[in-house]
Amino acid sequence: MNIFIDKNSGIPLIGLIYFGIIDRGTNLLQVRPTTICNLKCIYCSTSSGPFSQYHNINYTVEVNYLLEWLKKIVKYKGKGILINIDSVGEPTTYPDLIKLIIGAKKIKGVTEVSMQTNGTLLTKEKIKKIESAGLDKINFSINSMDPELARKLSGVDFYDLNSIIEIIEYIAKNTRIELWLCPVWIPNINDGEIPKLIEFAKTLDLKLGIQKYELHKYGRKPPGVKPITYKKFYRQLRLWEKEYKVKLIYKSKEIGMEKRRRIPEVIRRGEKITAIIKAPGWFKNQAIGVARNRAITINNCKAEIGKKVKVKIIQNKNSIYLAEPI
Ligand code: SF4
Repeated sequence: MNIFIDKNSGIPLIGLIYFGIIDRGTNLLQVRPTTICNLKCIYCSTSSGPFSQYHNINYTVEVNYLLEWLKKIVKYKGKGILINIDSVGEPTTYPDLIKLIIGAKKIKGVTEVSMQTNGTLLTKEKIKKIESAGLDKINFSINSMDPELARKLSGVDFYDLNSIIEIIEYIAKNTRIELWLCPVWIPNINDGEIPKLIEFAKTLDLKLGIQKYELHKYGRKPPGVKPITYKKFYRQLRLWEKEYKVKLIYKSKEIGMEKRRRIPEVIRRGEKITAIIKAPGWFKNQAIGVARNRAITINNCKAEIGKKVKVKIIQNKNSIYLAEPI
C-alpha cells in the first residue's frame, strides 16, 4: 500500500524519520519525499525495497505540501541552507523529483540542493533534466567494482554494474553536478572493493564519502558481518588516504555544514499528551498520530484513524517523536 501525504492528510512534515523533513541542528535539512526503493540491498539499514519483512506500507509526499513546509523551516533556520534529498528508500522513485529540486532551489536562503541515489533509475535524459532543475550534488551509492558482488549486494537480479558505471562517467564528464561516490564498507564482504572504487573515483576526479557499515535492529544483516569500531574505520581510511593520495575524511565544515538553531521542540520527552490518529505507521504495529503540529510515531497502537489516543513521548531527538499509548 502506498499512502499519499498531502495537505488534506493533516500530517505535519516534521516528526517522522521515514518521510518529511529532518533537522539535526545544522544548516543541512534532510528532505524525504518517499519511502519507496527499487533495490533490496542485503545491508540496508532500513530494510527498504519490495516485500520488506518489516514494512508493507510506503508513503509519498505531495510535492507542493513538502515545499510549503520546507519554505517555513528554511525561513526559520536562516541563510546558507543545504537541502539533501534523501530517503529511507530511493529518491529517484519519487515522481515529482524534478519539481522538488526546482522548488527547493527557488527557496530564499537555500544555497545547495543535493541528492542521494543508488543510480539504477538514472538515464542520460533524466540526468539532463535533473541538472537543468538545478541539482548541485549527487551522493552516489556504489559498493563494488565487481559485477557479481555488486549485484549480490543490491539484492536484486537486475542490478547492472556496467550501466551504473556508464551513468557515473556520463555525470562526471558531461554535467556540472558535483559527484561523490559513497560506498558502504561492509567488513569481510567488500573490503577489497574499496581500493578499486578509490582508483575509479580518481580516474574521474570524483570525491569519496566512504560510509561505515552499522548494525541496525530492523535493518538487513549480511550473515557473519560485524561492524568495526570507529577507531578502526578511521585508521583504515587514513591508511587508504596515504596509499592512494586521496582525501577520504572530511570535517563537517569542509562540506559546508555548520551548527544552526533547531526547530523548536514542542513536546518534551516523558510528556503525556493526546494525539489524533491520522494513518498507519511504517512498521506493522505502529500508527501516525498528530499533536501540536508535529507527526508522532506511536508504537503498539491499533487505534482507528480519527481516534484520539493518550500517549507518552518516549523519544524526541532531532524533533523525531516516538510515543507509546498509556
Ligand atoms: S540501501 Fe538504499 S538502495 Fe539499498 S535497499 Fe536500502 S534504501 Fe534501497
